[in-house]
Amino acid sequence: MATATTEHGLFIGGESVEPASGELRDLREPATGEPLARAAMAGEADVDRAVEAARAALDGPWGKTPATERSRLLHALADAIVSNRRELAELESRNVGKAITTVKAEIAAAAENFRYFASAVASIAGRSNPIGGSLLFYSQKEPVGVAGQIVPWNYPLLMSTWKLAPALAAGCAVVLKPDPQTPLSVLRLAELAAEAGFPAGAINIVPGDGPTTGAYLVRHPGVDKIAFTGSTRTGGEIMRLASDPIKRVTLELGGKSPNLLFADANLADAVPASVWAIYVAAGQSCEARSRLLVEKALYDDVVSQVTDLSQRVKVGDPLDPDTQMGSLISTAHREKVHGFVDGAREEGAEITTGGEIGAGAGAFYPPTVIAQADNRMRAAQEEIFGPVVTVIPFEDEQDAIRIANDVRYGLMATVWTGDPAKGHRIASRIKSGTVGINMPYTAFPGIPFGGYKQSGFGRELALETLDLYLETKSVVTYTGSRPTNPFGL
Ligand code: NAD
Repeated sequence: MATATTEHGLFIGGESVEPASGELRDLREPATGEPLARAAMAGEADVDRAVEAARAALDGPWGKTPATERSRLLHALADAIVSNRRELAELESRNVGKAITTVKAEIAAAAENFRYFASAVASIAGRSNPIGGSLLFYSQKEPVGVAGQIVPWNYPLLMSTWKLAPALAAGCAVVLKPDPQTPLSVLRLAELAAEAGFPAGAINIVPGDGPTTGAYLVRHPGVDKIAFTGSTRTGGEIMRLASDPIKRVTLELGGKSPNLLFADANLADAVPASVWAIYVAAGQSCEARSRLLVEKALYDDVVSQVTDLSQRVKVGDPLDPDTQMGSLISTAHREKVHGFVDGAREEGAEITTGGEIGAGAGAFYPPTVIAQADNRMRAAQEEIFGPVVTVIPFEDEQDAIRIANDVRYGLMATVWTGDPAKGHRIASRIKSGTVGINMPYTAFPGIPFGGYKQSGFGRELALETLDLYLETKSVVTYTGSRPTNPFGL
């Protein structure tokens, strides 16, 4: 377990190693401001080393590991996550400041994700078509090669497992860069993977700064594919960097997801679920339903219920099992969140609860409701990434769909209605990768997760993901007599 004096190296070639620069960065617990651990930061020379280790693994034992063995290893890693779940949950909770009850659910989901891809290995298959004459064609699937993966700080372990599991199932070797603030859980995961039997170099972890170490990884000529989760702004930069030399790219980016509440909905279900859908992970979720769109007839009633429930969310020590919402990632991030709330106030919205920074060293911010809001306000258009919900009225179904789609993002949406046909009709017209009908939960192994519009492209968690780590090679030949050469030569 991490302590103020624990030092964590990089993970390259199957072991913990010191960074070439010798840089160790102090990490602090966001909820207390107390020192947590010291973590090595990778520079360019370390990325070079990690890419070399990944390439050697592909050319060596990992590249020769058959699909059934990869499946067994993925299951073994899932087992190791379950056996070490308490340690992983505490590490993550202390490093990110998130309530341990929700982190425990993330750890369980991480294990399930490895199990899903352990089974999905069986779906990797080429095909053969009867093309005609004596022409024989078959295709085979091959791993893309070395995958560079970059993940954010909000779900450090879960987002890493979303990336690692499909890449390893496909037979790729990975160099993964966590956010420099939150490297601890994925470094521990890499150790568990080595103990579970993954060959050296299959998984390499290089925490480091984005614009330097991250950008170097994206540009690295030894990396064949980049899978990125993070902000839309950084996603654009990754696309530019990955264009020379050209590599495959998938992007899971930001969101400003709508939660549509119709007058015919069951409010007893819809209101508590809508409160959960913004405050889980203190709103630091890409799929946070941060715009609550409410049919006009219900607007005042819903604002009052949401305000009341927001005041009852238990905010506090992330390690207390009764805590429902911990701190934000840092006081610097809290300033950004607070700036959006102040901006909404200045634009004429009403803050019915929260919206003030309290005393104390931790990066806490209260559940905050912005009412009397308009969808064109900054707080309704930009990703705040904090426990702040903007409540916007709508007239009717058309108006609700118009407002829901009137953002540059398209990751997630939830519709609450008592009319199933209306739910499906609206689902088909909302421009987002996932739509929940009377159901707030978003991510399950086996169900594709990803964005429309500026929320990115590519899908996580499903068979579609596996294909993003595979090349399709077509092999063609004749089995009988050779037809006349079309050029007559
Ligand atoms: P960020 O874009 O600032 O950073 C994400 C990662 O990219 C970090 O590891 C960072 O070090 C790295 N990075 C930053 N600049 C880079 C560069 N120039 N080159 C290479 N790497 C670089 O995002 P963040 O603030 O850490 O994370 C929050 C964002 O992530 C939010 O927008 C959220 O919606 C998004 N997110 C999306 C999903 C999804 O599945 N769509 C899931 C989780 C988070």
